[in-house]
Amino acid sequence: MGKLHLELVTPEKVMISQDVDIVVAPGSIGEFGVLEGHVPFLSGIVPGELRYSSAGQTEHFVVTTGFAEISDNKVSILVDAAEKAAEIDVERAREARERAEKRLAARGAEDIDFARAEAALKRAMVRIRVAEKKM
Ligand code: ATP
Repeated sequence: MGKLHLELVTPEKVMISQDVDIVVAPGSIGEFGVLEGHVPFLSGIVPGELRYSSAGQTEHFVVTTGFAEISDNKVSILVDAAEKAAEIDVERAREARERAEKRLAARGAEDIDFARAEAALKRAMVRIRVAEKKM
């Protein structure tokens, strides 16, 4: 059993609160891994895959946007949304991707919030990628 504690929190609930051996998370300047004894640091979190291992089992989640704090063998990750890989609704993500792509294709239209559509597209693509990964 690891001596590293992982907390994954969204505005809705605490998704994970447990001791783990390693955490790998999608940081804003690239993926980072944390083992016991890691130096303290802060990082932004971007849409991507979060995984952790505990007692030889690896679990996969999707996270969206937020930040992470690593300190005293505790990894705290606060994000807008997160889902366990196996619980992702792929059809919903495909529909979200399609909506976002249509909005992005309408480049130039005044009523389209481009950055918002791009962010939605990223979330949808990550959900599809992680859900479809054979694990
Ligand atoms: P959508 O347009 O389908 O709502 P979204 O990217 O705008 O997608 P978010 O704002 O990131 O959705 O998430 C809203 C809530 O819905 C969160 O609780 C998130 O975990 C959940 N969620 C979003 N998409 C999926 C999905 N494909 N499968 C399971 N849960 C999802």
